[in-house]
Amino acid sequence: MTAQLIDGNALSKQLRAEVAQRAATLRARGITPGLAVVQVGENPASQVYVRNKVKACEDNGLHSVLEHYPATLPEADLLARIDALNKNPAIHGVLVQLPLPPHIDAQKVIQAISPAKDVDGFHVASAGALMVGLPGFRPCTPYGCMKMLESLNAGKGYDLRGKHAVVIGRSNIVGKPLALMLLQKNATVTICHSATQNLKAMTLQADVIVAAVGKRNVLTADMVKPGAVVIDVGMNRNDEGKLCGDVDFEGVRQVAGYITPVPGGVGPMTITMLLVNTLEAAERS
Ligand code: NAP
Repeated sequence: MTAQLIDGNALSKQLRAEVAQRAATLRARGITPGLAVVQVGENPASQVYVRNKVKACEDNGLHSVLEHYPATLPEADLLARIDALNKNPAIHGVLVQLPLPPHIDAQKVIQAISPAKDVDGFHVASAGALMVGLPGFRPCTPYGCMKMLESLNAGKGYDLRGKHAVVIGRSNIVGKPLALMLLQKNATVTICHSATQNLKAMTLQADVIVAAVGKRNVLTADMVKPGAVVIDVGMNRNDEGKLCGDVDFEGVRQVAGYITPVPGGVGPMTITMLLVNTLEAAERS
């Protein structure tokens, strides 16, 4: 079997076209959806992410503001900027690029963002809303993974009811929220992590496997049930310095039914869902 590719670039293109159309409708009513991206310090990976987010806004009719501060910015000054952005009616979404320098308490900063503008979905109010099934902003990466599952079967979606989903990784921004989203679609969910014994025994039972670890080859072909859906969230560098995921793509694609590539899978979907969240924040404003 050779797995069908879940093309994050193609799906993103389609979803971003919808965002652009809805943004144009809002602009006609005098509202330009606005995203503020706040970066502190010079983390090279952050520079790339921030640039991509700002460009995606510009390409799709959203207004974006990049506030870039030196690594020495005091925490109090950053909190004051968040407060100003919370009060700015031209800004509908506020995103603080992580990681922050060690002298800044990232949780304090995230919790200072107004839940109405929390387009990254990291605020406890957003996490709580997800937990109890209320509307709220969903974290972009797991939201993107869910959209990928919805796109299967020619857009009819992958029916998760009663299926076994194994999520490898339990971070607050990917693994845990994704597990909740899968659960809400009536999947049976297993969350694995660094202390999980016999990961292979878990993944071999899975109809859907999501790898969100940050280590190459965490999932290999011998760990996958034939026909399973494999979603690779990981972002790593291979020996040649090229971007790769957590999944042994060449091996696993011989066994899986569907697979996401890296690059061109979850990465572009994450930015796309940020645009969707920002647009929805503007629509609700
Ligand atoms: P994280 O906070 O470092 O979490 C990694 C998780 O993997 C932890 O729960 C850890 O377990 C678990 N883990 C580590 N080694 C393991 C092993 N050998 N077997 C099973 N589980 C193991 O990372 P994250 O922020 O969730 O990100 C995960 C990966 O996704 C990274 O490569 C990151 O760059 C990527 N990512 C990509 C996007 C995107 O847009 N494509 C977005 C976000 C993240 P413990 O909890 O026990 O430590």
